[in-house]
Amino acid sequence: VKPENNCIVIFGASGDLTHRKLIPAFYHLYANGLLSEKFAILGVSRTEYSDQAFRDKLKAALEASEKVDEATLDAFCQHLHYQALNTSDVEDYAKLKHRLDDLGQQNDTQGNTTFYLATPPSLYSVIPECLAAHGLNDESQGWKRLIVEKPFGYDLASAEVLDEKLHQHFKEHQIYRIDHYLGKETVQNLLVFRFANGMFEPLWNRNFIDYVEITAAEFLGVEERGGYYDGAGAVRDMFQNHLLQVLSMVAMEPPAAINADSMRDEVVKVMNSFQPLSESDLHNNLVLGQYTASDVRGDHLPGYREEQGVADDSRTETYVGLKMFIDNWRWSGVPFYVRTGKRLPTRVTEVVIHFKKTPHPMFSANAPKNKLIIRIQPDEGILMRFGLKKPGAGFESKEVSMDFHYESLEETNMLTAYERLLLDSMKGDATLFARSDAVTACWKYVQPILEYKENPEHLYGYAAGTWGPKEADTLLANDQREWRFPCKNLTDTDY
Ligand code: NAP
Repeated sequence: VKPENNCIVIFGASGDLTHRKLIPAFYHLYANGLLSEKFAILGVSRTEYSDQAFRDKLKAALEASEKVDEATLDAFCQHLHYQALNTSDVEDYAKLKHRLDDLGQQNDTQGNTTFYLATPPSLYSVIPECLAAHGLNDESQGWKRLIVEKPFGYDLASAEVLDEKLHQHFKEHQIYRIDHYLGKETVQNLLVFRFANGMFEPLWNRNFIDYVEITAAEFLGVEERGGYYDGAGAVRDMFQNHLLQVLSMVAMEPPAAINADSMRDEVVKVMNSFQPLSESDLHNNLVLGQYTASDVRGDHLPGYREEQGVADDSRTETYVGLKMFIDNWRWSGVPFYVRTGKRLPTRVTEVVIHFKKTPHPMFSANAPKNKLIIRIQPDEGILMRFGLKKPGAGFESKEVSMDFHYESLEETNMLTAYERLLLDSMKGDATLFARSDAVTACWKYVQPILEYKENPEHLYGYAAGTWGPKEADTLLANDQREWRFPCKNLTDTDY
């Protein structure tokens, strides 16, 4: 089902997110015939552009980044429009309202409008207030939706204030907090894999699972985002949102149905069951690290403190590893080891479920343990590791794999995360967007880490291109466990 005719207003239209992610996503949806019959995309920011100059700029960006079909791209560009606006001046929004009335009539949108906030976060509460002052939040004529980019708050208090301000002008059903991890095919597949198959769910608990690992590794450093990153760090940038969302989908109870309420009720239940971090957890179960300069594959990679926009004496973490627990019937006592970092050996995100050993080792003492590896990126897929008999005399066992790769599906036409989420928002499906109570629950959980990291007892260095501080290995070694190293060689992204 296609979305209804609608207008999409992108605030921050002259910025990086718009030209690198949003417009390409809209273009692909258009090229695949997934957008409504009639629609208009209205870019808004302070920089002056004519409609034509805005189209030319975005067209050139698309042509430079991928192979496009020129006729389709030209047709798509006719849907792009631009309005220069002083985003923090409420009077100026009269221009926006006027423009929207026109575009609405031309495209028969019946007032259906999405406002996408891709501006600096300081404007996330200002824009909705200005929209409301002109009645642009009013749903008596067509729906009005607000998509809010990350970061949603800086800590628990600021997230609560932002939420309150948004709710003064928009109702919860109008607010779509984007977490692009939830738009990833393999993250959604966690639900289908777990709940559409009868054979995994009976094992998915503390009786059979020894521990769970979640890794989100990036090879890149902070690139041009040093200024932003230095004020955020890995806990805010990756852990509080993406990793806790993924963890919740691994750990949640089966929802009664796949709809926004049932799904998100279960997600929040898990988040509210995260075992609060004690002083001792912060000292013993948390590892913060920062990358240092190193030569990797013939290139000299600078240390974090040498990056542009980063303070010389920065104590911002670029790595976080944490052992955490979920206090509920299903997961009591099962550790979840979660790590994320920049300048690790490769880019990989995966969940590894480690099953318990057989109760009695008949074949060899070091028989392989069963693992289920859910690869979120790259080479999306699922792999099962288990033991088989080594051919020949005796009964020695050997670890083998059974694997599925998304790319081997015939009908692989995967939507990117932004494509999926934009499409869902236009259809009014908020299932894959973070709800207010989920965001609050995650901030509440990480708040002690945020306070601790202001003045951490230890911030361990790790050489760029390695798997983080050795203390993160010790975290598991102390429990007689180890991280799975997703690739043996630096350039290897194999399972
Ligand atoms: P950006 O390149 O700096 O763009 C910011 C946009 O906001 C520009 O279009 C700017 O245009 C506009 N703007 C309006 N009022 C502004 C003001 N008072 N001060 C500064 N800019 C103002 O940022 P971005 O990378 O596109 O990111 C936008 C938002 O998305 C940020 O909140 C970021 O955290 C989030 N985000 C970005 C990415 C990404 O990959 N880039 C990923 C995830 C989340 P004018 O100067 O013309 O007004």
